[in-house]
Amino acid sequence: MPGQRIFCNLSTMEKNTVRVDLNLNIRGLTPSATLAINEKCKALKAEGREVFHLGFGQSPFPVPRPVVETLRENAWRKDYLAVKGLYELREAISHFWERKQGLSFSPEDILVGPGSKELLFILQLVYYGDLVIPTPSWVSYYPQALIVGRRVNWVKTHAEDDWRLTPEELESICLLDPDRPRIVVLNYPSNPTGATYSIDQLKEIAEIARKYKVILLSDEIYGELHHLGQHVSIARFYPEGTIISSGLSKWCGAGGWRLGMFSFPKSMRWLLDAMAVVASETFTATSAPIQYAAVAAFKEDPEIDAYLHQARRILRILGKYFHNELHEMGIFAPKPQGGFYLFPNFARYRDRLLSKGIHNSQIMCERLLQDTGVALLPSLDFGRPNEELTARLSYVDFDGELALELAFGKYADKTLDAAFVRECAPRMLEAFKRIRDWLR
Ligand code: PMP
Ligand code: GLU
Repeated sequence: MPGQRIFCNLSTMEKNTVRVDLNLNIRGLTPSATLAINEKCKALKAEGREVFHLGFGQSPFPVPRPVVETLRENAWRKDYLAVKGLYELREAISHFWERKQGLSFSPEDILVGPGSKELLFILQLVYYGDLVIPTPSWVSYYPQALIVGRRVNWVKTHAEDDWRLTPEELESICLLDPDRPRIVVLNYPSNPTGATYSIDQLKEIAEIARKYKVILLSDEIYGELHHLGQHVSIARFYPEGTIISSGLSKWCGAGGWRLGMFSFPKSMRWLLDAMAVVASETFTATSAPIQYAAVAAFKEDPEIDAYLHQARRILRILGKYFHNELHEMGIFAPKPQGGFYLFPNFARYRDRLLSKGIHNSQIMCERLLQDTGVALLPSLDFGRPNEELTARLSYVDFDGELALELAFGKYADKTLDAAFVRECAPRMLEAFKRIRDWLR
């Protein structure tokens, strides 16, 4: 099975006086790869090393001004809020879906939590079904399933489809046991590939999901960062079985604020209610000031629309520029269509890398970081076979505030081009130069 780094360390048991009896599902797991690389990069920087942080998926843009203002105004709020979330926020989210996707959710269909990651975990805890995830997939779905003790089916994908989930491969998993309860995760624009799905592809996947009555967990956290602003939710084609997962972390640049939400079809109120029971016994409710601020984020506001328009323009040119850089090195990667990730395949350099003793993605990323200061995340963490020389590259090592200033100002009426990239992302240019030199 493709999988993440999992290894047992029993030495702690010998050192302690008390017997260490960890839950067997947790024993041997290591901290989440994204957070581990972030902390490692910070530690290296603190030691004085120059690090090009292309390992972590954090938005470089500041939180939009009206949202920060609203947070400031609501800092005094101290009372616990309703477990499912502030009603006013759930109303704003339901209007957001209506406005953006023409989808009709009532506030009662929405569950707010401290990050969509927590909600994903609780979903797996309360729903008794297998987890079906395409490979590659974001780093946390699989370990969450392991922790909860769910069976995982990795679905085969193909480089020539830009690693997208295909209806045929999904059906081949469902056919193994057609009546089995399943949660199928579809994440697009994708972390780690940056690719998204066409309307026809979404319709075909929706058809298979309906045929086998699976829960489709549509992780659309990068939806608003579709580079052309053309994200389409699969909930339009499978409304009765799709839960949409999203939040503030990516498009609103507020990962550290910890606010996510699930939007459920009416027929799944029982599932929302069961998740709320677990929420009430665990996180209680999401931070009150953050929820009030989130109301401003989801409300219609021309200033936020302008911010998003510029953020997309910037990500589009950076994605295109660095994708092209990879292409010129002979490195294949899917064309980025949304979010801020590239998924390069270094296979063309396999022989050269082998001569340096590098034979898998993990060693490749470790050595690249050690030799050049450029941090990437190995594809092993995304469920690819370790010997495949793919990795995730987050093109976020730039000053988001400066980039917005340039896009709103000097470049307002100009096409963003190589000159813009030089001005806004000099560190990434240097990182790419180092990768190129290293491969030589
Ligand atoms: N899904 C994907 C694909 C992600 O990249 C992330 C990382 N932010 C999450 C879910 C979790 O996001 P959060 O918990 O910040 O809402
Ligand atoms: N989602 C981000 C990433 O993939 C980081 C945050 C997280 O994993 O919780 O890098």
